[in-house]
Amino acid sequence: MTDKNIVQYHPRRFHTFQYVYPVVSRRSGGLSIGVNLSPTAQCNFSCVYCQVLAENHEISEPKNNVVTSVDPNLVELELRELVGMVNDGSLFRDTWLSRTPPEKRILRDIAFSGDGEPTLSLQFSETVRRVAAVRRELCAESTKIVLITNASTFHVESVRNTLATLLDDNGEIWAKLDAGTPNYFRTISRSKVPYEKILTNLTEFSKTNPIVIQSCFALLYDKEPDDEEIRQYTKRLKLMDQIKKVQIYTVARRTPESWVLPLSDEQLDKISETVRKLTGLQVDSFYSA
Ligand code: SF4
Repeated sequence: MTDKNIVQYHPRRFHTFQYVYPVVSRRSGGLSIGVNLSPTAQCNFSCVYCQVLAENHEISEPKNNVVTSVDPNLVELELRELVGMVNDGSLFRDTWLSRTPPEKRILRDIAFSGDGEPTLSLQFSETVRRVAAVRRELCAESTKIVLITNASTFHVESVRNTLATLLDDNGEIWAKLDAGTPNYFRTISRSKVPYEKILTNLTEFSKTNPIVIQSCFALLYDKEPDDEEIRQYTKRLKLMDQIKKVQIYTVARRTPESWVLPLSDEQLDKISETVRKLTGLQVDSFYSA
């Protein structure tokens, strides 16, 4: 496996673990441990580019009231074991990670991501508390806790409180915003959650907390998002107070829909440049390959 393949290879299962898995992540800049709080692959979105849906060979109807459940004791046990394997180097022996370059072997973050929206888990708060304790005990101070989220639950008080805990423990919230208009949002997310709800959640949350915005743009039936869509998207970004940076990327792996394809590097650069120019924000671009 080449170095390039290592960052493209993202299996969300490792050995006999149920909930945690290692990846070498471009957006994390190195080694990341994923925590999957959606082992049954339930989500309240059904994104047209979702790798999880592509692997499940079916388009599941997104539901409004998805709840998932995990065993926090097992999450913690598995995380302790995997962090131990990073710390003693055994993770990089006899596994596909043996080709990981030395500079990518540092644990950058523990990321709540996985096969669905993490904040829908009944044990979201409990597992964040436990992951934070493991990070403090076994990881370097620089290791972050990252939440990768579609922001659909930020209005729920218990979620907001948990996000505050996470931010206090060197946490970062990476929130998805893939559209500038309700129509485009519906096309991409195929969710029953209204676009306005997502925008309000992001805008309100960013008044008091920093966020990283993650946006995936792709070719849909050979068409890139048009200039007006990107202009509207930048207007939405300007409503938010504390954006640390924007990560703009395109699809890098198999999608559930044959009509969803990656943007070219030039198309992605054009969008990133427009966003930089119209918002003044830091924009990091991640190409298809
Ligand atoms: S929010 Fe994430 S997990 Fe849910 S459908 Fe979209 S890409 Fe897949």
